[in-house]
Amino acid sequence: MAAFRLPPLPTVREIIKLFNLRAQKQLSQNFLLDLRLTDKIVRQAGKLKDAHVCEVGPGPGGITRSILNGDIAQLLLVEKDTRFIPGLQMLSEAAPGKVHIVHGDILTYKMERAFPKHLQKKWEDDPPNVHIIGNLPFSVSTPLIIRWLENVSNRDGPFVYGRTQMTLTFQKEVAEVDVSVVHFTPLVQPKIQQPFKLVEKVVKSVFQFRRKYCCRGVEILFPEAERLEKSEQMLMLADVDPTLRPAQLSILHFKNLCDAYRKMCDEDTNLFSYNYREELKQKKRIRKKGHLEQSEQEDQL
Ligand code: SAM
Repeated sequence: MAAFRLPPLPTVREIIKLFNLRAQKQLSQNFLLDLRLTDKIVRQAGKLKDAHVCEVGPGPGGITRSILNGDIAQLLLVEKDTRFIPGLQMLSEAAPGKVHIVHGDILTYKMERAFPKHLQKKWEDDPPNVHIIGNLPFSVSTPLIIRWLENVSNRDGPFVYGRTQMTLTFQKEVAEVDVSVVHFTPLVQPKIQQPFKLVEKVVKSVFQFRRKYCCRGVEILFPEAERLEKSEQMLMLADVDPTLRPAQLSILHFKNLCDAYRKMCDEDTNLFSYNYREELKQKKRIRKKGHLEQSEQEDQL
């Protein structure tokens, strides 16, 4: 059977003009107009024949066209900005029965109900024929990928279908045309066998001071009174050189740090709930109160 091709359509540039779709820089919108580039991005997703695809933030539809030319079964478009809906409808009419448009926010959209149940595969099996593709602004793709990593760990959200693959572009700067494309396939076995929230806390803390030695970030996992002693203990347990910078740490380093932190949390059940920012805020409140009391005493004198 011949592969599906979209019929002749106005170009993405013409659609932008037709619907007056100026990119809103404050929303970090920037559009990919070169179909060779969008084809290249979509190729990174692998074979899309008969695939069920969710495209996040299709905008004027450059990547959308490349996906539709890939002979897919179903394409779900989730776009937040109303201005793009008429242009996307035009694409939908050019590929009858394949496209479903959702005007909504991908951060709240429930993808677990979007595709037919029969697509579900066991986690240990090959990935299902379900893909997520998108070119989103950094401000959205960063929280989104963290949320999806948690979903991977819980096997919920887009991962109720199994090890759903994601192909996402990460824009460096708004004005830069250069984008990096990252393709993710969840592993059957995670490299770090600890709860997501624990891994997230360790990684976030270490990267809190990204230009300093990694020991600085490890320190903030512990209350001030025992900070130096406990952070040294954790680094020693994990066998990590405290003078490495966060970006020099490998996955194995992070695994060892998470395992060491887990051991320490098991020994001290209050440790995991400790929050560095909260301690700082509390200290500030106490200082402010002390200051107020002191000035009241001075007033009375
Ligand atoms: N994919 C198009 C392209 O490559 O030309 C547009 C890319 S533009 C950088 C990002 C798109 O994501 C915009 O269309 C914007 O409206 C949409 N967007 C931003 N935040 C979103 C969100 N939370 N949910 C859905 N779409 C979003």
